[in-house]
Amino acid sequence: MKRVSAAAIAAFALLAALALFLYFYGGNPPSQSPPPGGGALEVVFIDVGQAESILLKHNGRYALIDAGESKTAKALTGFLKNEGVERLDFVIATHPHSDHIGGMEAVIRAFDIDVFIMPDIENDTKTFENMVDALLEKDVRVAIPVPGDVYTLGEAELTILFNQITPKSLNNCSVVSRLTFGALSVLFTGDMESEVEAALLLTGRPVRSDFLNVAHHGSSTSSTQEFLSAVAPGAAFISCGVSNSYNHPHVNTITKLTGMGAAIYRTDEDGTVRLILSPDGKYDVEVSGK
Ligand SMILES: [Zn+2]
Repeated sequence: MKRVSAAAIAAFALLAALALFLYFYGGNPPSQSPPPGGGALEVVFIDVGQAESILLKHNGRYALIDAGESKTAKALTGFLKNEGVERLDFVIATHPHSDHIGGMEAVIRAFDIDVFIMPDIENDTKTFENMVDALLEKDVRVAIPVPGDVYTLGEAELTILFNQITPKSLNNCSVVSRLTFGALSVLFTGDMESEVEAALLLTGRPVRSDFLNVAHHGSSTSSTQEFLSAVAPGAAFISCGVSNSYNHPHVNTITKLTGMGAAIYRTDEDGTVRLILSPDGKYDVEVSGK
């Protein structure tokens, strides 16, 4: 008769128990039940002129990426209140230029914010100082973005893809992030330029996305063909002002995107642009018009 040691029996029992545990729990925590109301996710490219501000909206939860210039701060907070915002699950200040953080002081004072994400770089401006003062006064939790960090908004997940500190170029300090919602994805780029695009591609992190928030208002210093080909967006969204002095978006950027077959939406022509993602993988775009 073959003898089976007690140790082997104990090991087998342990494996069986583990298999049973994994069968029931799948190695993941139990998933949340789906929220009520169908649960579309809206990505709203708000018309804030030659600047950028993007609202994420999902089942009564909200998040904001950038806040436009200070001159449109009042209009922005009014717009957000109209959308139903009282509290923001997270806010990202992609980089400390006035066309991205000008409205932040007003946003911080008007709404409760769970976590405020900003790169670890200062800008010697009154706008930056006002933003930091408001954060300190309201005791808002501030997080430095780290690639791989995930912020959730209901069923949607936003992953930090890249953030480097290059004091010579605040644009290249931009927080780059990717939102996933079911099978759909959106890439947010701030004002990153071609150097960051190349560095991000080298990391091998996933950039392919259904929708692209075109970097730096469509400037020619961003959106290399290599990067756009890696993202391969079906639709591209550009925040820029009517007849702006930078000539954003650059004709080359538009030509590249058109050549790839991407639909282009731009706030200078379309006004506020609302990208609506459905949990079933379908999407729709609504524009307010000018
Ligand atoms: Zn900008």
